[in-house]
Amino acid sequence: MKRIYLDYAATTPTHPEVVKAMAAYFTGAFGNPSTLYSYGQEAKGVIEEARVKVASLIGAQDEEIVFTSGGTEADNFALKGVAYANEKRGNHIITSPIEHHAVIETCKFLERKGFRVTYLPVDRYGLVDPADVRRAITDKTILISVMHASNEIGTIEPITEIGKIAKEAEIYFHTDAVQTAGHIPVDVNELGVDLLSLSAHKIYGPKGMGALYIRKGTKLVALMHGGEQERRRRAGTENIPGIVGLGKAMELAQQEIGKEAVRLTYLRDQLIKGLLERIDHIHLNGHPRMRLPNNVNMSVDFVEGESMVLNLDLESICGSTGSACSSSSLEPSHVLLATGLSPEQAHGSLRLTLGKWTTEEEISRVLEALPRIVAKLRAMSPLLKAGK
Ligand code: PLP
Repeated sequence: MKRIYLDYAATTPTHPEVVKAMAAYFTGAFGNPSTLYSYGQEAKGVIEEARVKVASLIGAQDEEIVFTSGGTEADNFALKGVAYANEKRGNHIITSPIEHHAVIETCKFLERKGFRVTYLPVDRYGLVDPADVRRAITDKTILISVMHASNEIGTIEPITEIGKIAKEAEIYFHTDAVQTAGHIPVDVNELGVDLLSLSAHKIYGPKGMGALYIRKGTKLVALMHGGEQERRRRAGTENIPGIVGLGKAMELAQQEIGKEAVRLTYLRDQLIKGLLERIDHIHLNGHPRMRLPNNVNMSVDFVEGESMVLNLDLESICGSTGSACSSSSLEPSHVLLATGLSPEQAHGSLRLTLGKWTTEEEISRVLEALPRIVAKLRAMSPLLKAGK
């Protein structure tokens, strides 16, 4: 049976053109960019070309981009970098409870180091209210970090409004755009952010590669100390194939961004509508309209998310119960709990995320398989008997 991959938010297959672009830099132009001979200088040129591509996708200047080992490092760099560089000014950080673990766990680390973190409330769709951000600001606030869109429930946050508040209060503003850069338009000036994280493997680029946008003039300390790479902001010999891959992935994303979003939104809505029609006691998580074009997240009452994922897998359909990083844990999703779901409802969640190679036939196959699987699981479910 042909495999149907519906977990594009966890990771994407690397685009063949990205693989081709990267391949040359493993063998041919393998020089160290810090060397003076032409081999090294050629590699340096390639890095700068990729930097321009990344910058242009998000409306930044090229010197405002620092390459990292992925979204996790970019988030750590933004939060710890700003916290430690500005601790004389204050020790207060504002964030949301639905952030990716890369932000949440970094905040918890900073709390153990003496920083104070406010986790804003979110509504039932996972939306942060900008008025709550304004109210949470104190004279000790040095950073606000709110994700551009949720990797779990797909809700797109009001970043532009929060950006205006942060600017007025002269507080640094970071957004995690790992799920949006390359998927929907992202412009650092329109969003009003000072720092923005992105990752290559969510947009058909290689794993282990990302970038942090740092607005000129932002005070932050480096996490990596050593050589003078990346204008002394991140030491270590550059991952040239990875950087080339990120640049190429961004370039391809830019060419297709509008058209692909329209196509995916259509397929997403077909899937949501079909599931709501075919399965009783099923609810959409996340905002019905302000949501990523490729995200479907449903809670199915009286069924465990893990059972749905495993049964779909038996039919060669890949989905997930939440973010990839937490799907091996039995804890209910912190994101769904923050939106007000009970632990039982959160346990019954299924995330299906669409991408470049998703077709209408694949959506039809899921619409045939999932209602059947849910009916089978419910027939054996002690949860259903208890809930009746
Ligand atoms: N932030 C968000 C919103 C994500 O979805 C992810 C990956 O799942 C990350 C950060 C971490 O990115 P990476 O896997 O590149 O470290």
